[in-house]
Amino acid sequence: MIDLRSDTVTKPSDEMRAAMINAPVGDDVYGDDPSANALEERVSALFGFEAGLFTPTGSLANQLAIRQLVKPGEELITETFSHIVRAELGAGAAFSGITTRTWESPRGALRASDPLHIARPDSGPYQVSTTAIAVENTHNFGGGTVQSIDEIRTLRTESLKLGLTMHLDGARIWNAHIASGVSFLEYGKYFDTVSVCFSKGLGAPVGSMMLSTKERIASARIWRKRYGAGMRQIGMLAAAADFALTHNIERLSDDHENAKSLARAIHAVAPHVVNPDEVDTNIVILDLAGSHISASDINLALKSAGILASTVGPTILRLVTHLDVSSDQIAKVNSVLPELVQRAFKS
Ligand SMILES: *Cc1c(COP(=O)(O)O)cnc(C)c1O
Repeated sequence: MIDLRSDTVTKPSDEMRAAMINAPVGDDVYGDDPSANALEERVSALFGFEAGLFTPTGSLANQLAIRQLVKPGEELITETFSHIVRAELGAGAAFSGITTRTWESPRGALRASDPLHIARPDSGPYQVSTTAIAVENTHNFGGGTVQSIDEIRTLRTESLKLGLTMHLDGARIWNAHIASGVSFLEYGKYFDTVSVCFSKGLGAPVGSMMLSTKERIASARIWRKRYGAGMRQIGMLAAAADFALTHNIERLSDDHENAKSLARAIHAVAPHVVNPDEVDTNIVILDLAGSHISASDINLALKSAGILASTVGPTILRLVTHLDVSSDQIAKVNSVLPELVQRAFKS
């Protein structure tokens, strides 16, 4: 099976497994795991932060971060289709009493004016006060969109004047860096808290991290334990993440090329279904609106050809490239999918 459902489906390579087996470990709740401590230092330095906290999931890293920035009853604003409001099952409200409001932007691409337009800091006793803004980079449901560093910079400058803080959901910041050439330090500079994932395109089996000041990370460490995610000998997981950082960042450009190749092959037969120029990274969104076959029917036909994709709406098919999909396999997809798409639009 060629599995293009997500970049979370990657399996640890033999080399990664060897690194995991040989990792020095200790009890991380006591702060004794040398591999976890080293990883937290490595990643926080990479992004220019004082400290980091390893978490089992990116959702937890996001949630620990935003609860440091937003008090109960205050407001976080973010894009309508961002992971924090669409895929974390109301965690901000359920666990932290955080309310959210959203702006919508095409492909999830940040325009600083959108959040600035809806932000309402210091709203007094009658209306909810905005205290933080979350930005997702790359934007997952937007189709792997890389955010403009100029818009991020403008948003930071203007939101600081309003006394707001900023969180970066950087689950795929690795892809953004490879596609844009913007350094991790530069990305880190404009945010108060950051989350990153090791278990997406980087190929580690488990693990994410929250980054911030020493003080916020000390508090997040307490909340992580309170949420039941204080972990013990996690050095083996940290070693997988460390291996991924060393070996699997530069190669993301292969995934981006593969995604472009998919998009071009489909565009060639059905130009309105996908614009290859809008495929910034490793996610390809196909909009099948107007066809006489549903996305799930195309998905079934793909499956019988040995290809797995996912539907994210009745007419939307999503394909994600990653390190367990070779360019030969992409060539195979290109020999099947464009024809299916073309047939879906024939009367
Ligand atoms: C995958 C992802 C996360 C974290 O997801 P978990 O499954 O909780 O690790 C966070 N943000 C974005 C944009 C993601 O794609």
